[in-house]
Amino acid sequence: MQAEPSAGELLALGRQVLLPVYQPRQMVLVRGQGSRLWDSEGRDYVDFAAGIAVCSLGHCDPELTAALIEQAGRLWHTSNVFLSEPPLRLAQELVAASRFAERAFLCNSGAEANEAAIKLVRKWAANAGRSPSQRVIVTCRGSFHGRTLATVTATAQPKYQQGFEPLPGGFRHVDFNDIAQLEQAFAGGDVAAVMLEPVQGEGGVLPAAPGYLQAVRALCDRFDALLVLDEIQCGMGRTGTLFAHWQDGVVPDIVTLAKALGGGFPVGALLAGPKVAQAMAVGAHGTTFGGNPLAAAVARVALRRLASEDIAANVAKQSQALRAGLDAINREFDLFAEVRGRGLMLGAVLKPEHAGKAGAIGDLAAAHGLLLLQAGPDVLRFVPALTIGDDDVAEGLARLRKALVAFAGG
Ligand SMILES: *Cc1c(COP(=O)(O)O)cnc(C)c1O
Repeated sequence: MQAEPSAGELLALGRQVLLPVYQPRQMVLVRGQGSRLWDSEGRDYVDFAAGIAVCSLGHCDPELTAALIEQAGRLWHTSNVFLSEPPLRLAQELVAASRFAERAFLCNSGAEANEAAIKLVRKWAANAGRSPSQRVIVTCRGSFHGRTLATVTATAQPKYQQGFEPLPGGFRHVDFNDIAQLEQAFAGGDVAAVMLEPVQGEGGVLPAAPGYLQAVRALCDRFDALLVLDEIQCGMGRTGTLFAHWQDGVVPDIVTLAKALGGGFPVGALLAGPKVAQAMAVGAHGTTFGGNPLAAAVARVALRRLASEDIAANVAKQSQALRAGLDAINREFDLFAEVRGRGLMLGAVLKPEHAGKAGAIGDLAAAHGLLLLQAGPDVLRFVPALTIGDDDVAEGLARLRKALVAFAGG
């Protein structure tokens, strides 16, 4: 019998064969259940990360697993040249749930959904007779929209762009939550769309200020531009409502989804409102794997569950518990300038004297049995499964406290 490889061997293998674009934590995960994970050495972890806000129904949810297995025994793939029922139903259910969309485009990831949104904006503007220079898309500093060349250009953070020039043109960046700057960005009359996250994720867990999205919508209407909302991280129930923008009282033209949509199975979606639903005709866009029956079967179950009252109630409850726990921890350690966010998308902003230490705290948390993310170098990000229970929240906070004792001890 061959011996199981050790974690050390697998970590070394990763350093040898993977493109070195990640610096993974020093363990190898082998199993998950709900909000707990186990590594190859048998250690358990409380999961406050859910992948990256992906496993919103926890790990190995029985209903998601059953849907995947059932579909796997029936039909895996047809391409979009041939129809199958699961993606049709998923599109129908997404459109109905969205309260604004008429049509959906299914794809495989967040970047692919945003790439489709960018192309849809451009095509809509082209159809209206606007020249290429009149098709500018405005995005916000601190945003994150993906890693393809167009979405990394939309992403208004230099660290994601450096070295990848030449970047595609036609993007303009403004400060998030600054409506005066946005108004200036419109001044040339060349803007086709504003694209933003209702709660910035990677940029530091920063929600839109009260009234900001409504002011953006008003500017878009005044200048006949589209409002594109990237809800890839903040959507699907994470902030307490199925769509984050419901809390801001605006109707978008395009919404993109991915991350939690498949509960851990790769899938993305673009939802298109009446202005743009027919802007791309046959042949204008496509994807080989998008709307895969396996992904669609899983996402249908995830959507139904994530849209439920039960989930909304648990998000509200555990959000309060997590905030209360973080406040208590902060009274003891005085590390955070503020805890911000909505629902189960929370960020603890480190005080200036601890700037740059979010990664180090994440390492210590893992060593103490807690999986935690950062959002930039200065913010601890809390995005657990929306199904997380009282005990796991309490245990995760207790482990965070131990990690911070170690951090404070130097
Ligand atoms: C993760 C993320 C993306 C990119 O999604 P991928 O699936 O990694 O391509 C885009 N926008 C937001 C807001 C995200 O959080």
